[in-house]
Amino acid sequence: MTTKNNNPKNEIRIIWTTLCVLVMILCVSCIKVPKNDNGEHPNLTKLKAHSSEFTPEIISLGNNVYTAVGYDGSNSSMIVGKDGVIIIDALRALGAAELVATKFREISSKPVKAIIYTHGHADHTGGTSAFITHEQDVLIIAREGFKEELQERSPVEEVLKRRNARQFGRNLPESDVINRGVAPGVTSIDRVGKGYLSPNITFNDSLRIEVAGVELELYSADGETNDQLFVWVPQFEALFAGDNYYKAFPNLYAIRGSQYRDVKVWGESILRMSHFPVDYLVPGHTRPISGKVYAHQCLVDYGEAILSVYDQTILYMNRGFTLQQTVDHVRLPKRLAEKPNLQEFYGMVPWGVRSIYLHCVGWFDGAPSNLLPLSEASEAKHMIKMVGGERKMLQFIKNAMRECDYQWALRLSDYLLCVGYRDDKVIDYRISILKCLASQQLNAPARNYYLSCAYELETDR
Ligand SMILES: [Zn+2]
Repeated sequence: MTTKNNNPKNEIRIIWTTLCVLVMILCVSCIKVPKNDNGEHPNLTKLKAHSSEFTPEIISLGNNVYTAVGYDGSNSSMIVGKDGVIIIDALRALGAAELVATKFREISSKPVKAIIYTHGHADHTGGTSAFITHEQDVLIIAREGFKEELQERSPVEEVLKRRNARQFGRNLPESDVINRGVAPGVTSIDRVGKGYLSPNITFNDSLRIEVAGVELELYSADGETNDQLFVWVPQFEALFAGDNYYKAFPNLYAIRGSQYRDVKVWGESILRMSHFPVDYLVPGHTRPISGKVYAHQCLVDYGEAILSVYDQTILYMNRGFTLQQTVDHVRLPKRLAEKPNLQEFYGMVPWGVRSIYLHCVGWFDGAPSNLLPLSEASEAKHMIKMVGGERKMLQFIKNAMRECDYQWALRLSDYLLCVGYRDDKVIDYRISILKCLASQQLNAPARNYYLSCAYELETDR
């Protein structure tokens, strides 16, 4: 009796079909992850290119305004007046601040008459003493409520510190860090915070003051923090935005753990800035922007992007959407999503949506299944049982990795760890998954967070 397989034509057909299926499988598994010619994910290439924002340089804006970029995590600026200079923000490390102060003095040897803190974050306030020679003569100006938002004495300080280190990649090998989204990958650790001096003038809504012959207008403007202010210098048409503006989608929520940042008011603060005839827009991080038309457009886009995320979140919430459904639906309008200064190098839209949602209604998102959910361990046990046991689950993880479905693979590995399954392979897979997720990330904090978790697993084993 002759079987089909003994027919050479049939054999060729079978081999051909098998080859086609294999090629299809390969194509399908590669489809999800785009790569550049150098084998790198385009997001990674883009994030690397963004590092040019942090090349150390003293940038001259006209003849009287200078901004130091890239010497530490944030910017410090100097305004030169008739008989003195004004410093806006003072970096984080005293060592870095001393270097910048020296460079500023090479430009102008006039004494510092005032220091302005745009807000209380440590990366803007830690190096103040480096700029000052005669402390008693210097005005140190901030908003009323300065530093109130900080969680320095939080009952969860320990976890905040751990998450801060992950977000900024503080414990990662230098070679693994690209940048921090709005700061260089590595910043000075030379006497961090040791130059801090308290403000000696504070104000509530606004303050008009003349320092060294320069008219300054300071305005309270809640946003990234609730002690944020911006400085308008009419004479030089320069606006110092603090951390309410930088060249990245705003960090409406910080994954290191932050209190609610009032998203709606943040958007409104930015639109308020756009009403000034700004020729030089100086962000708290990243390089300044020049040109009236462009600066105006940047501010309007930024404000509209923030308010769009807010309005959409509220809209979907009112339709009864759950938290995840709301996250799934809110998108930046295409026109804004394409703007170079709204790329998600630092903040991310979904994080902002979650933050707004939880701020409005608290943890319960309305879904009955979320009222009294199973314990993590119970759910994990059910899932593992459903797929046919731990080894089967391992296989599912492997399959998900092969298909580059890394978020799913990570979630499945959660289940195994949750029930205490400690096969070496789970840890190996999880490390690989976290590194793969990092390798595709445009967002620097997310990338640093994934990598930090991978390194923690490597060192803990
Ligand atoms: Zn900052």
